[in-house]
Amino acid sequence: MEDIDVVIIGAGPAGLTAATYLARFRRRVVVLDGGSPRAALIPKSHNTPGFPAGVSGSELMARLRIQASEHGAAIRETRAEKLSIDEAGVTTLVDGGSDLRAPFAVLAAGVTDKRPQGRAGLDAAIARGLVRFCPICDGYEARDQRIAVLGEGAHGLREALFLTAYSKTVTLAHSGADDLPAELVSEAQVQGVEIASGARSDGIVLGERTVEVCGRTFDCLYLALGCETPEIARALPLARDDIGALVVDRHQQTSLPRLYAAGDLVRGLSQIAVAAGEAAIAATAIHRRLREGGAGGT
Ligand SMILES: Cc1cc2nc3c(=O)[nH]c(=O)nc-3n(C[C@H](O)[C@H](O)[C@H](O)COP(=O)(O)OP(=O)(O)OC[C@H]3O[C@@H](n4cnc5c(N)ncnc54)[C@H](O)[C@@H]3O)c2cc1C
Repeated sequence: MEDIDVVIIGAGPAGLTAATYLARFRRRVVVLDGGSPRAALIPKSHNTPGFPAGVSGSELMARLRIQASEHGAAIRETRAEKLSIDEAGVTTLVDGGSDLRAPFAVLAAGVTDKRPQGRAGLDAAIARGLVRFCPICDGYEARDQRIAVLGEGAHGLREALFLTAYSKTVTLAHSGADDLPAELVSEAQVQGVEIASGARSDGIVLGERTVEVCGRTFDCLYLALGCETPEIARALPLARDDIGALVVDRHQQTSLPRLYAAGDLVRGLSQIAVAAGEAAIAATAIHRRLREGGAGGT
């Protein structure tokens, strides 16, 4: 079996940043890259630090990849099928059947946005900014537009309310069966958010520059349908919050010793800057524990 210090699951911003830090600490690192990071969907990010003219997700990923591999991290295009953890370390079953064993692992497997079923052309609409997922990321780019938010329950209405900082024309296309919380509905009335009930994904018509939702025309559509945690994380008995995000300590260690986590699958803000910060913290904590002889405190 290979002699490595850390296995990193996921090659998005979190996994690749952790890899760069650990490689620069002169640790032997293997990154398992399952492909299609959420970051690669970003047409152009304008809030990523250091890119005043913006940067596309694919360019950012290419830069992070070069940075990690030029410092010596090994990036393998394969998936982790299963993790098992004991007192001495983490064993990762890799797609194809072999095992990787390391004293520590970083779970940086991200999440996947839920999408409306059967909408052809969605990826292209995301690429041209017609369909969006993240008001914190790009609400600024949607300012003064006619905005629809397709969402279920309180989460969708909170996103719609958040977007009133950017536009006076925000409509929640509510697809859930549940009643919306009364205090949020009152706030929506004060902020001028319209609520259209009974929205259905087959009622979305994607045009070139506009989108029809509930029979009305909008300049962009935010999807607020929630996210799915990857199977590799779901299969582990990890502490989670009420929406399924992983709970970690101040060094990014999960509730399982030796397993750290960073990025979107951790509770907190799903942002590149946050993913990178969490990865830096996890990598430095692991490096310190390795210096202390493997187990160490957190
Ligand atoms: C359209 C869009 C626009 C966005 N715009 C911005 C923006 O402007 N600014 C900003 O800060 N954020 C933005 N975000 C959010 C940003 O993309 C995420 O916060 C960021 O990608 C999180 O990084 P991550 O490394 O945690 O996850 P990801 O980028 O999703 O990477 C996780 C990787 O882990 C892999 N993986 C999963 N399971 C396994 C496994 N078993 N084995 C191996 N690999 C596995 C996945 O395939 C994936 O490649 C945007 C998101 C979207 C969808």
